[in-house]
Formats: sequence, structure tokens, C-alpha cells
Amino acid sequence: MHPTPHLPPDQYTVGWICTHPLALHAARALLTTTHTKLTHQPKNDKNTYTLGRISPHHNVVITCISQSGTVPVAVAATSMQSTFKWLRFGLLVGIGGGIPSVKNDIRLGDVVVSRPTGQGAGVVQYDSGKSCVGGFERIGTLDKPPLLLRSAMTSLMATRGVGREILELVEEALGDEGGDESSENGWIRPSSVPGDVVLTTGAGLKDVLFKADAEHLGSNLTCGECEERDPQSVISRKPRKTPHPRVFYGNIGSGNSVMKNAVQRDALAKRDDILCFETAAAGLMDVFPCLVIQGVCGYADSHQNKDWQSYSAAVASGYAKRLLAEISSEEVESLETIKKKNESYWVVPRVVNPDNTGMRTILETLRQKLYLGTLQERARFRYSLITKIEKGIFWIDAQDEDSIRKSIVEAAKTASEEEKEVDYKSARRWFENQNKSWLLILDNAENTNLNYLEFFPSGDSGCVIITTRGSEYQQYNTASQQDAEFEKLGVEDLVELLLESAQAS
Ligand SMILES: [Zn+2]
Repeated sequence: MHPTPHLPPDQYTVGWICTHPLALHAARALLTTTHTKLTHQPKNDKNTYTLGRISPHHNVVITCISQSGTVPVAVAATSMQSTFKWLRFGLLVGIGGGIPSVKNDIRLGDVVVSRPTGQGAGVVQYDSGKSCVGGFERIGTLDKPPLLLRSAMTSLMATRGVGREILELVEEALGDEGGDESSENGWIRPSSVPGDVVLTTGAGLKDVLFKADAEHLGSNLTCGECEERDPQSVISRKPRKTPHPRVFYGNIGSGNSVMKNAVQRDALAKRDDILCFETAAAGLMDVFPCLVIQGVCGYADSHQNKDWQSYSAAVASGYAKRLLAEISSEEVESLETIKKKNESYWVVPRVVNPDNTGMRTILETLRQKLYLGTLQERARFRYSLITKIEKGIFWIDAQDEDSIRKSIVEAAKTASEEEKEVDYKSARRWFENQNKSWLLILDNAENTNLNYLEFFPSGDSGCVIITTRGSEYQQYNTASQQDAEFEKLGVEDLVELLLESAQAS
């Protein structure tokens, strides 16, 4: 297939990150059209891209991380977003260790897709947290996959025969390589039912599940020998009636190292309600809204072999292609770009008093108010302030109704990068519709004729701070918050202010 010239970067809307070279190989093969490489890639972007079009009209940017781990994938995603600023969401496609259980009869060659389940947001960072009395406390939660992807996923869950469709897509794209043992990337289609598989080439590709306490017998032994020497250690399962991959939806456990311990695997699966392990996704979920798709190539135990890698990478990629067919390119284009979603704003339009002095007492009171407690508590406060306010801090001139309306319009307009005129109502609605938190500072609220409450955007994603000299404004306090009271300027501050105003200092 000869590549066609690449499109302008703003035409690419889907970012596809592979966590294994075999997944990259499959993704490339699944493209309906391949585009040429970008003519000018920014120097600081070290990713290697494959550009192209996939079912039906999505222009995708594909890259593969060269090293596993949550950090390399975060770096790759950040670079991708800086070069392709118009991406709307991502797909993270790779291979991982499935967790078979009575409830989920996961087999090698199946597909696991991240879907928020129970307490988990689709991806659970199982190694981030601390053990404490009464269990384990996880630090932070990861972002859920974007709604459009979740809806497409729900639609596929209700569709019969998705497994067969995936296999057809993969067969069409990679079928020529079937059975080509000399090709390192060649994908191998099991010709029989998983669980009892014979390769088209005649070589064996077996799916054997060992009991959790049956460890691999030695580094110089194959798993065939594990089975031969201790047949009792194998869990017997009924072969499936069809050879198609099954798709499982639920939480995926993400950590920095490969899980190779079946006892630990089962304990974590129970604790975190997860179906599969992988080693990159956790680095991505907060910076790159995406769905994680894993082909199951092992059982996250000490019996590791590479036989299933190419097949499971291919079916996971096939699922990604089938999922994209469920979404129209118009729907994708209507989404906010990832970059915009991640951006924060600090809108402080003007300095009210250029002689910015006399603030010492105020700052000290604020500091005490905000930084009360031990060093640790202060650190925690600062951390929570930074992480809590994701969308931005907006300064609102609260002198009168007109100035408030104008400032709110200005803030929403700046933050949404809207070029058209925005009216007050839609500006307010913009704040109310944000799913990321914001902080409005209503400065100089001294107008007793105004009910300031009327100007607070509703919803629970934001915070409002009122600065005022009037104690009657305490009525706006949220029950759990205390108001901070400031003394009048001290003599020292007054002298400084006088000198500053006279431009003498
Ligand atoms: Zn073994």
C-alpha cells in the first residue's frame, strides 16, 4: 500500500498509542489508508508516528512506546498532544496478563477493555497507595474514559458477534502473514478453539492455566515441561465452542512492573475488582483521556511465554478498529481537544491598585488561615489546592452588577478561547458545565444592594472566594468554611503605602 500525502495536523483526531511493537505492527496493518510522515516534526517530540485513516473516516496518529512503564507512556502522550493539538481522545492498545476466575472465564487471546466498574474508573493503579490498619488506601483516582468512548463501548457490548468481526478484520489485515513462522511479527491464528489450539502451521499454541500456587518449575524449563512433570497443577477447563476472542469489560490493573505472581494476582483482583494487568495505562489516564484495550497473552503468573503475543496484540488492535467504526468522525470532531481539556487558566485582568503594598498583614493572616498546622498539613494543603483547581482561577470585579457580569463573560471567553461574543448567561453556563474545578474570586464585594448569590454559577465543580470589608457578607459562607478576618493596615504598612504612593520608595 503506497502512502498518500499526510493531512494538515488539525485533521488528526484520534491518538493511538501501542505499548508493544506487535500492537504497532497490527495497528499499521489495520489502517485503510496510510499517510506519509509529517514533513516537520518538532525537535522535542521524540515519538515515531504512523499516520493514516481507519474505519470509517477517522484520521489517526499511531505511535509505540519504546520502553514499558507509566512514565514513558505519559511522555509519549504529552509529545503527541503537543505535535497534534487537535486530538480528541486516545486509545492505548497492548498486551497484558488476564485474570481468570469463576466469574470471568478469561482465556488467552481474549480482549479486555477498560470500563469503570465499582470503585474503579476503568484503570486502577494498584501499586499506588499505602497499607493502613483495616486495609489499603489508594492515593488519587484516575480519570474515567471519555463519554463518547464509553457509549461506543456500551453499544458494542450489546452487539452480538463482535468477536467474530474482530477476527475477520484481523484476518483481512494480517491474514497473509498467517503461519509465517519466519516473520517475527507474523500473527498466528489459532485454527481451533482456544483452550485446545492447533496452529494453522501445525505447531502447537496451547492455552494452559496453572493453579495459582503452582509456580513455574525452572528458568531452563518450558511450560510444556511444567505441565508434563505436574499434570495436577493444571486447571481443567472446557474448550470453547468458537475460536473467536471474547471481550471482557471492567477495570484494568496498571502498575510499573509486570505481574508474575498468581497468588498476588488473585488477591489484587479481589481487592481492586480487576480483570487484567498491564504496565503503562496509569501514566496516561490523567493527561490523555483514553480507553485501554488489552489482548490477553498470559495469566500474570510465573509461567511466562511469548507464544500468544502476536495473536493477542492483533485481536486487541482489531477491537480498537471495530470500536472506532461505532463512532462517526463528526461525533469525534464535536469533542473538545485533549489539549484544551487539560489547559488551566488564570485570569486576573487588571491590577486594581498598582501600589501593591500594605499587604503584609493580610498576607500573613491568609497564610496563617490557609497554612495552619504542621508542616505536613501545610504541604498537604498546597497539594490539595493545586490538584483541586484544575480549570483555573478567575478574578471577578464585584463592585457592581455590570462589572460582575462583564468579568464573568471575560473569564469564560478567555478560558474557552471563544472568538465570538458571549452573553452573560452562556458565560455562566460555561462555568456550570465544567467538569473540572475552577475558582472565582469576587473581589471588592461592597455593594449591599446586591445579592451576590445570584452570580454564583451553580453546580459543584467550583469555589467562590469573596473579598470584602463588610461583615454582613458572612451570610454567603458555606457552613464548613470559616471566614478570614483581616485587621486594618498597621502603621508600618501605612507608611510604606504612603511612600509607595508618593513614589518615594
Ligand atoms: Zn511454566
